[in-house]
Order: sequence, then structure tokens, then C-alpha cells
Amino acid sequence: MSGLALARVLTGAGFGVRVLDKGRGSGGRLSTRKSADGGTFDHGAQYFTARDPLFRALVEAWMAEGIAAEWHGRIGTLTRGVVGPAKAPVRYVGVPGMNAVAKALADGLDVRTGVRVERVEREGRAWRLTSETGEDLGLAEVVVAAVPAPQAVPLLAGAPELAAQAGSARLSPCWAVMARFDAPVAVALDGAFVEDSPLSWVARDTSKPGRAPGERWVLHGSPEYSAAHLEETAEAMAPKLVAAFSQALGRDVHAVEAVAHRWRFAMPSPPIEASSLYDAALGLGACGDWCAGPRVEGAFLSGVALARRIAAP
Ligand SMILES: Cc1cc2nc3c(=O)[nH]c(=O)nc-3n(C[C@H](O)[C@H](O)[C@H](O)COP(=O)(O)OP(=O)(O)OC[C@H]3O[C@@H](n4cnc5c(N)ncnc54)[C@H](O)[C@@H]3O)c2cc1C
Repeated sequence: MSGLALARVLTGAGFGVRVLDKGRGSGGRLSTRKSADGGTFDHGAQYFTARDPLFRALVEAWMAEGIAAEWHGRIGTLTRGVVGPAKAPVRYVGVPGMNAVAKALADGLDVRTGVRVERVEREGRAWRLTSETGEDLGLAEVVVAAVPAPQAVPLLAGAPELAAQAGSARLSPCWAVMARFDAPVAVALDGAFVEDSPLSWVARDTSKPGRAPGERWVLHGSPEYSAAHLEETAEAMAPKLVAAFSQALGRDVHAVEAVAHRWRFAMPSPPIEASSLYDAALGLGACGDWCAGPRVEGAFLSGVALARRIAAP
């Protein structure tokens, strides 16, 4: 989100921008995975809120185009079978999956996926980028690491002060489980902040607008539980979090499909003070949710803030 927001603003201002992403598609933590029944799961970001006027305007444009919609799911708390109320901001989701909004932002940009940048080295007044496979990715006047802070640190080696600032940011992990059931899970909720549990959040993905029919849930391990089990295998974690879901519901449920995904860097806790990092003399910078705010909107605003700094005369 932050990198695509930055690329859109700079491309619009006439800069030549290329986005390099190690992922198979664009979107990073704003991502959607296929399930065995032909449906999908949003296994990263669950929904987004929009408070800043600029982001609100973009969300409204997405809604007009049908690639985002309000999610009217019943959201509450779940504590060992007991349902409670939760805050009720307007929650938006991508349609038909969260990554639809990333795809929309990427549309028309020069994006290359499936390439992990490993080195950013000074060459004259420019930066030479090299991939993890040793491929020469070319020269750039300005390089931005729009990646989670720990992954930004090595890319910012040419600006040690920025690398140190990125190094001070912490991101907590999250084990996510994508679980499919052959019958509706009987609970009067579509999304819940789970308390007193290894889980912190569960959502009936199929309650979001524009999803294929079925009964698909996303279960998120709490930051503490996910950190404690970080190096376990996905195969080991899936049944553990489904069991935790049963415990949270107060009765047993059995998934017909359960796949776990480890988000090593899920959520900034807390973000650093600056909305972005930039050394104009060197042409090296960084942005992301760990700068402006720990959410989709924060990542967007961080990317826009940095684009404006780069474009400033
Ligand atoms: C489980 C989970 C639940 C969440 N729930 C919510 C929620 O409900 N609401 C909300 O607003 N936010 C939520 N978030 C947070 C939200 O997803 C992020 O704040 C936002 O998507 C971050 O965007 P970003 O651009 O900063 O980083 P990312 O999305 O992490 O993007 C970084 C990109 O950089 C790429 N990359 C990394 N290293 C390299 C490299 N060396 N070379 C090339 N490419 C590289 C990655 O592939 C990725 O595409 C959640 C996140 C997670 C993981």
C-alpha cells in the first residue's frame, strides 16, 4: 500500500517510477488467498478505516468503481463463548477481496513482482539495485524501501541514520489460519476481537460483500501467542488455532480445510514518530505503516507523505 501510493503520486508528477516487489502479486499484507472451494480468504488486513480526507476520497472512488464496499458484518468481542459489543467505526473491504484495492492502485504503474531486492549500493550519484539471485536491477536516482522496518534496515545501509531509525521500529508477528467449514458456524457474529485466548481476532470472511458463497473464516493468533510459536510449522499451527477457535466459541467446530500463514512482521507496535524517512541529498528513503500508523490508511499516508518530500523542489 505505501509503495503503491508513493509510486502513484510520483508517476502522476512525471517521475519515472518502478515498483519491485518480492511477492507473487502486489499488495503485501493487503492480500487475498484462494481456498480449495474456489472462494478466497483475506488472511492479512481484515478491513480498513478511513479518517484522513485524502484517503476517504480514494475510498469513495473505489466504492464508486465497485472495488471497495462497506462491510456490515456483526462485529463484537468473544470471550470463551460469551459475545459482547465492540466499537463500530465504518469498516471497508476490497471487493471481491482485500487485494482488489492494491491491484487498482498498481494498475498502469510499472510494477515488477517476484523480485526481492537484496542490495542497494552507491554508484556515482545513483544507486545500483541487485536482486537476491544476483540480477542487476539497474540504477535509480532515488530508492525507497516501502517494506516492513526490519526488512528496510539492510536496504538503507547507504544512509546509516535512516537504517538506525528503521532499526528502532518493532513489528509484532501474527499466525493467520484460513479455515473452511462445511456448515455455518453458529455464532451471532461475523468478526470478533477475541479475549482470554491464543486468538486476537476471528472473522467470517464470507460475510464480507462480494465474496463467493461458503463458510470461510480467518483466525488471527494474538501477537504474544504468535511470537511464542513463531518458528513452528504451518502444519502444526493450523489445528492449534482451530482448537483455540472452538475454545473461544465455547463449543467444538471442525474445519474441512485449515491452512496457516506466518506473518513475521504483521503490525507495528508502536510506529515511529516520523511519517516517512528521507535523506534528500542521498536520494534514499523509507515509508510504510511503521512510520505513520499501524494500518492500511497509515501505510497509504506514509507513502503519499514521502512522495511529496521527493517531489518537493
Ligand atoms: C494479519 C494482519 C492483520 C491486519 N489487519 C489489519 C486491519 O484489519 N486493518 C488495517 O487497516 N490494517 C491491518 N493490518 C495492517 C496492514 O495490512 C498494513 O498496515 C499495511 O498493509 C502495510 O502496508 P505497507 O505498504 O506498509 O507494507 P506491506 O504491505 O508489508 O508491503 C511491503 C511490500 O514489500 C515487499 N518486500 C519486502 N521486502 C522486499 C524486498 N527486499 N524486495 C522487494 N520487495 C520486498 C513485500 O512483498 C510487500 O509487498 C493487518 C496486517 C496483518 C499482517
